[in-house]
Amino acid sequence: MSDLTAAAKDTDPAGPGAPGRNPAAPGGGRTVASAVPPSLVGRLAAGVTATGEPSVVETVAPLTGERLAGLPRSTPADVEVAFELARRAQPAWAALPVRRRAAVLLRFHDLLIKRQDEVLDLIQAETGKARLHAFEEVLAVAIAARHYGRAAQGYLLDKRHLGAVPLFTQAVEARRPKGVVGHISPWNYPLELSVGDALPAFVAGNAVVNKPDTQTALTALWARELLIEAGLPADLWQVVIGDGPVIGPAVVEHADYVSFTGSTRTGREVARRAAERLVGASLELGGKNALLVLADADLDRAAEGAVRACFSSAGQLCISIERLLVHRSVADEFLAKFAARTRALRLGGGLAYGADMGSLVSGRQLETTTRHVEEAVKAGATVVAGGRARPDLGPFFHEPTILEGVTPDMAVCGEETFGPVVSVYRFDTEEEAVTAANSTPYGLNSSVWTRDVRRGRAIAARLRTGTVNVNEAYGAAYGSAGSPMGGMGESGLGRRHGAEGILRFTEAQTIASQRLLPLAPAFGQDDRQYAAMMTAGLRILKALRVK
Ligand code: NAD
Repeated sequence: MSDLTAAAKDTDPAGPGAPGRNPAAPGGGRTVASAVPPSLVGRLAAGVTATGEPSVVETVAPLTGERLAGLPRSTPADVEVAFELARRAQPAWAALPVRRRAAVLLRFHDLLIKRQDEVLDLIQAETGKARLHAFEEVLAVAIAARHYGRAAQGYLLDKRHLGAVPLFTQAVEARRPKGVVGHISPWNYPLELSVGDALPAFVAGNAVVNKPDTQTALTALWARELLIEAGLPADLWQVVIGDGPVIGPAVVEHADYVSFTGSTRTGREVARRAAERLVGASLELGGKNALLVLADADLDRAAEGAVRACFSSAGQLCISIERLLVHRSVADEFLAKFAARTRALRLGGGLAYGADMGSLVSGRQLETTTRHVEEAVKAGATVVAGGRARPDLGPFFHEPTILEGVTPDMAVCGEETFGPVVSVYRFDTEEEAVTAANSTPYGLNSSVWTRDVRRGRAIAARLRTGTVNVNEAYGAAYGSAGSPMGGMGESGLGRRHGAEGILRFTEAQTIASQRLLPLAPAFGQDDRQYAAMMTAGLRILKALRVK
């Protein structure tokens, strides 16, 4: 028996990690199948654009391995149909005042909060994550809906600029929707990364063709239904389902703008295709994020934060931490606290609150996780906690795992695991910690723990990541929806959230109107006189500090 199971038994004898317990059953004995009945699948599947006699693509519930749903498979021709429908619906939507579009987001926020249990079931059934981690998605989407519902008007407002010739030229910057956004999303945060990222596109006046990952398409389809209930015209959000390499390129092929979240490898291909068509793309990609524990950190808080940072959604979170850098003077004490909390995590996957960590999503994720751990151990790394798959709990469970003695030749050192595995490294100086944190081509998120917040911010300024959380894992930056979030380096291009998160879905258009004075010599005016007049004008503007 592993330490983890023992700890789970100690803290909760009937805890989800206890052997013999059916992880799909807690929560009033509700099973995955009862949470996702065929009638619901049928209703939601009606939202998939798949014409003719579509073939069926099957999904499996990660918690139990049982069949979850059969969904219609779209073809590249269906993607074309989806874009046509979306393109037809978009102009009327764009013609509405921003406040009418924003009202849909605000109603969606209220409906989501009211009906959260439905989608928590779906997220858990499709991803296998713990309910608490599914709830993080509800939180993130609710925050984004309120933010863009309230702030969109300000972001999209026409802005006056100083004209070419002040008083004679009036320049206004307007924001026009791109048209139809091709939106490709992964399986790990299916609510947040399907609807959360689509909300600013909609409120900016666009239509969206979304290709969610097939494994988590029901969650996206549920969100679509809810948004329609909140007032979104049905054709404005098209969903296509199918293999990424087959229909993904078709989405990019027809899009006026591409919003992609997924791996760096696929992101590069999407970027290449978008570049060939000269359409813009935002790319939210992978990471190998670091958490720094400075010598003056509150070690209890840091240890708890590190557990959240490393093991939320079983580490299948782009901003989760896979490298822990700890000051040597506190490393033993910190590691003891962190390992104790990690061993006490209750593994399980019932459709109810209570488990601290759920399952991985698939055999592919489990394979990468076990391979990274086993190869590292074979090459000399030490397992401080966890270290094993847990088939007794479900087909894809893996213990939250802490490694020490990891060296650069091990895959787990530099490659994204995207599983519940973290490597601990010790440092002596701040310089060394910053260099180590930055020693990756990725640049998504980092976390710094110190009692001196000013020092934390100063270190943050030296870290090459799109978000830095001081004394928190990832939620502080991610949950601040008015502030941009995204990756530097190979972690991506562009940002979600804040002004950048909505303006990326628009084209800037400058409308300048000229009166009285032409921007060239007037009829009959000597060129030399004109040049002298304009030169004098430049001098006056400089003296008046207008330009
Ligand atoms: P993935 O790149 O394999 O798939 C992402 C999406 O792209 C899926 O819908 C997939 O079907 C589709 N796709 C696959 N091939 C395609 C192609 N050739 N053209 C167009 N689309 C294609 O990624 P994944 O393994 O499903 O997701 C996990 C990855 O996503 C991790 O690397 C993680 O770090 C990253 N991620 C990043 C963020 C972020 O905000 N930066 C958020 C979540 C996940």
